[in-house]
Amino acid sequence: MRIGDFSRPRIGWRRQRAAEAAKGTAAGAGTVQAAGAGTVQAAANRNRGSLQLRHVDAGSCNGCELEIASIFSPTYDAEQFGIRLEASPRHADGLLVTGPVTVNMSGPLRKTFDSVPRPRIVIALGDCARDCGVFKGAYGVEGAVGDVVPVDLEIPGCPPHPAAIVAALRTVAGT
Ligand code: SF4
Repeated sequence: MRIGDFSRPRIGWRRQRAAEAAKGTAAGAGTVQAAGAGTVQAAANRNRGSLQLRHVDAGSCNGCELEIASIFSPTYDAEQFGIRLEASPRHADGLLVTGPVTVNMSGPLRKTFDSVPRPRIVIALGDCARDCGVFKGAYGVEGAVGDVVPVDLEIPGCPPHPAAIVAALRTVAGT
């Protein structure tokens, strides 16, 4: 598609994506992998429609952040499912971590994890968070998120589609 080409039926596309997100049936939504299925189910039972997450960018390229931002847009509207980002880890139900964990961010990530009250959940969002992705072996990378803190849920993709993110977070929110 050329830049400035407005012939694409954008409104219909957005409505379709929003409907898919609401049903959790968007492309990629079925590829969520639970590293701790029991923990996720327990979190869903506990949260009952309210999930507050502290987001930690442990060293991402910012692509995953763009998709996280878009899940709170009117198109995907994650807040209708009780999903919100929380400024303080002390008020959060868990962590939403993106990127490979860089050497400089491993300490802050551990400290943030320690600040979240128990029981807590850790979600690794994106291929870099799962296994370092394209940054595997880079000199400034300490490892994947699971190498630093215990991960309960992984959302694959580079970056994951916003509808897949919403579908995955709904399994934790219990909505
Ligand atoms: S998974 Fe892809 S989009 Fe996300 S931080 Fe890694 S390279 Fe960037």
